[in-house]
Amino acid sequence: MELTGELAGELAHLVGDDAVVTEGIAAYGADSTEGRGLRGRPQAVVLPSSAGAVARVVAWCYHHGVPMVPRGGGTGFAGGAVPTEDAVVVSLERLRRVRAFDPLMWRAHVEAGLTTGEVQRLARESGLDFPPNPGAAEQSQIGGNIATNAGGPRSFKYGATGDWVTGLEAVVAPGELITVGGPARRDVAGYDLRRLLIGSEGTLGIVTAAWLRLLPAPEARLPVVALHPDAASGCAALERVLGSGIRAASLEFLDEATIAIAGHSFPGDAAVAGFMTLAEADGSPEEVARMRSELAEALGEGATRVLSPTDTDQVARIVSWRDGVSLTVSAQRGGKLSEDVAVPLDRLAEAMAEVKAIAGRQRLETCAWGHAGDGIIHASFLVDRTNEAQLDRAHAAAADLFGLAIRLGGTVTGEHGIGLAKAGRLQEQWPARAVELHEQVKRVFDPKGLFNPGKKLARPSS
Ligand SMILES: Cc1cc2nc3c(=O)[nH]c(=O)nc-3n(C[C@H](O)[C@H](O)[C@H](O)COP(=O)(O)OP(=O)(O)OC[C@H]3O[C@@H](n4cnc5c(N)ncnc54)[C@H](O)[C@@H]3O)c2cc1C
Repeated sequence: MELTGELAGELAHLVGDDAVVTEGIAAYGADSTEGRGLRGRPQAVVLPSSAGAVARVVAWCYHHGVPMVPRGGGTGFAGGAVPTEDAVVVSLERLRRVRAFDPLMWRAHVEAGLTTGEVQRLARESGLDFPPNPGAAEQSQIGGNIATNAGGPRSFKYGATGDWVTGLEAVVAPGELITVGGPARRDVAGYDLRRLLIGSEGTLGIVTAAWLRLLPAPEARLPVVALHPDAASGCAALERVLGSGIRAASLEFLDEATIAIAGHSFPGDAAVAGFMTLAEADGSPEEVARMRSELAEALGEGATRVLSPTDTDQVARIVSWRDGVSLTVSAQRGGKLSEDVAVPLDRLAEAMAEVKAIAGRQRLETCAWGHAGDGIIHASFLVDRTNEAQLDRAHAAAADLFGLAIRLGGTVTGEHGIGLAKAGRLQEQWPARAVELHEQVKRVFDPKGLFNPGKKLARPSS
């Protein structure tokens, strides 16, 4: 169907006038990749309030050959929610019901549009925990977290969002509402379609609700921070934590350049070091006390300073300082091209040295931090956004970075997904037959190619 102004009328007929956005449509044209120049303009934006309404929109779009872009909180770092090809944006923000909450059974059944923070608070009010903790908790939605299989610092111990999803409700082509899995914690019947939808970045269907499993919340959480003379000794300390069998909740790192930018605002004394490691101990007060001293010992060998604060205010300030590192780097240095490659932890030191070398070859400044426990490196190449030549060099550096991650046994994206930003990169990482299977899966779910076109492509579109 040719996309015209009539489209809004057709959609209003399906979901009601108040569910078709007529003003401020541009706000749905970008996500957190806007700073790297990714932006589109949707043909229309709909805000369905129920799974049934989502199904009606998908059925209509599928029948008329209209592309759709599912949208959660728009915090994605891969451009997955950026509309291309005159798409209709299907924003899940009105699917906000908690359909069931059974604290005694440690589970919740929630709609896709609840934010991560809302789900975490729901759990916490009953002494439970929803462990996945991606950074933008007040904006990102459960549906978006499922679609990107979002992780966060605590994924080291607890896994990513998908590990907490026992069932999904989704609208798939040509507009049918299906459920795969449910409240039961184990289900091995059939191929794991639930897992296929998790991390599919809106390219196989639209998630409308999920059954989540929860855990009794740990009674205490405390950080241990160590400053190291250089990356090699810091990475050795991280490996010692694993080698000592310490089950820290998170294991993070910041390199020297990041500390130079953000270290002045480190709570307490400014941090000056060649490398910083941060770990979190959680559990009962006794477990936390034991783990803190084990972490201090493992991270402390050869370190110049070790902090293991217990004061609630200082702990909160350290957590919020770490959460703000990315924004501090952006604010102080202007533009940056940030990637999210991952490598096995025992290759982290090598990777850190290579990232510096890559930046040096392209005459760029770089800094890196990340979720060391999962080997995720947020490597940033700092740029002046008005300098085209520098931007080109940053993209060349990113390409080298992807090659490095693959060579070290890792991945081009350990956290944010392929989206639009890394479309086509999968073929560099996977064997040809696996790439074919990836493409066949897409065709089986979406024969007309209307769910989030141009995203999560295994090879560049021709
Ligand atoms: C400050 C900050 C910190 C962050 N920290 C982390 C972190 O620690 N770990 C991490 O993994 N990520 C992190 N992110 C990235 C981002 O928050 C996650 O990818 C998040 O899960 C995206 O959720 P969203 O609701 O904003 O999705 P969106 O950005 O709206 O969409 C992301 C993708 O999911 C698809 N999608 C959204 N909702 C649905 C749905 N209901 N059904 C099907 N497809 C859907 C979209 O089409 C798109 O492809 C961070 C982002 C910011 C801005």
